[in-house]
Amino acid sequence: MKYRLILSFILLFSLKTVVSAAPKAANFNNNQGILSLPQVVIISENSTYAATLRRIESNELLFELNTLAPIGNSFSYYDPTKNILHIPNLSIGKQTYKNLQFELITSETETQPLRFRMIVAEVDRDAIRQVQATVETKPVPASGDAADDPAIWIHPQDPTQSIIIGTQKQGGLGIYDLKGQEIQYLADGNMNNVDLRYNFTLGSEKIAIVAASNRSNDSIALYKVNPESRSLENVAARTIRVGLTVYGMCMYHSVLSGKYSVFINDKNGAVEQWELFDNGNELVNATLVRRLKVSSQVEGCVADDVLGHFYLGEERVGIWKFNAEPDGNNIGHLIDTVTSDGHLTPEVEGLAIYYVNETEGYLIASNQGNDSYTVYNRAGNNEYLGTFQIIANEALNIDHVYDTDGIDVINVPLGEAFPYGVFVVQDGENIEPDENQNFKLVPWEKIADALGLKKESSYSPR
Ligand code: CA
Ligand code: CA
Ligand code: CA
Ligand code: CA
Ligand code: CA
Repeated sequence: MKYRLILSFILLFSLKTVVSAAPKAANFNNNQGILSLPQVVIISENSTYAATLRRIESNELLFELNTLAPIGNSFSYYDPTKNILHIPNLSIGKQTYKNLQFELITSETETQPLRFRMIVAEVDRDAIRQVQATVETKPVPASGDAADDPAIWIHPQDPTQSIIIGTQKQGGLGIYDLKGQEIQYLADGNMNNVDLRYNFTLGSEKIAIVAASNRSNDSIALYKVNPESRSLENVAARTIRVGLTVYGMCMYHSVLSGKYSVFINDKNGAVEQWELFDNGNELVNATLVRRLKVSSQVEGCVADDVLGHFYLGEERVGIWKFNAEPDGNNIGHLIDTVTSDGHLTPEVEGLAIYYVNETEGYLIASNQGNDSYTVYNRAGNNEYLGTFQIIANEALNIDHVYDTDGIDVINVPLGEAFPYGVFVVQDGENIEPDENQNFKLVPWEKIADALGLKKESSYSPR
């Protein structure tokens, strides 16, 4: 009966170009297994029909023709000459697709609903995906804009004992465990950005070296992580004052030379690269090895240790990519911009890299003007892969993340809470209840699943 009904529609209606209003996304109800598709046009002179689709498998749909009813205009339509159902925009599970085509699979009996198989679907990169944090850290001990940039340290034996180091730009560094509890607070100055690298040789030890930009005295603060106490110990040979009124910073450990360096910048777009070295007395010193410049305010940056790239966010312009080696070319190029051709909304803030393996992975940027994060391929020409936001997790009483400055991400499993690693962000407005700013932790798989990214990683940053 159902079959006969659709066949009669197909026979009656002649093929016309479909012109109508903007497409609306269809909704897939996971609980009922029902996909409500409010705007299927069986190509006709002037009619639009609602239909119900039921998913059979990920690429096959059951078209329940008995629910057909006219409802107005649409871009969704069935082409009876090719037996193709076209749907402009459809969410299936957590993924949003566009320009979908379903091929009619001829039904054997008249009583069976028509079956369609998905034959074409593009992931909709422009749809902002939503994820939730599962942990938030203790608020920082200063009000206003105070928390800024996190760095994740992985414990060498027990990844569940890993820590988050967060800057408090009005006064120091907070150290938190993976449940968000504070382990240590260092009131060492107005620390703006922080980063770390492993296996730095200091005397007879291999240390995890932590660097922070200290705006109190325009210096690079240097620490090692004590794995026993999971806290920071100062290892700077001196107050390493740089030639800038410091702002953002990030680190680079070159696989080419084995050398460690710090990129530090100011609000005029100037960048200095300082190489770190053991001073022979179990302390770390640094020397200026390079200067480069862009035209306006910068802050967030990240270096790709394996591919040798240095990414720099020019806050109201876009993301620059430079050679990270001290003797590299000082001419960079923009991989994405805040213009209408780009995916960014000023200001561009924190940057971080998720390593899938030596060559694959993702560059992530805090797109502060849109309270979102943009994701790019780490390799090649940094293809744009999508955008996500961190919405409130009402079940865990964790508020929505707004206005993020710094971010960090790690690919290493950190126990049951973070089986594929973790993405950590500063939250500019820590509410419900109103408290000082803090950092939010999102399990990597939530982001990977929402954007269709990889979550199995073979890369070890240690
Ligand atoms: Ca801020
Ligand atoms: Ca900034
Ligand atoms: Ca900032
Ligand atoms: Ca918030
Ligand atoms: Ca909160």
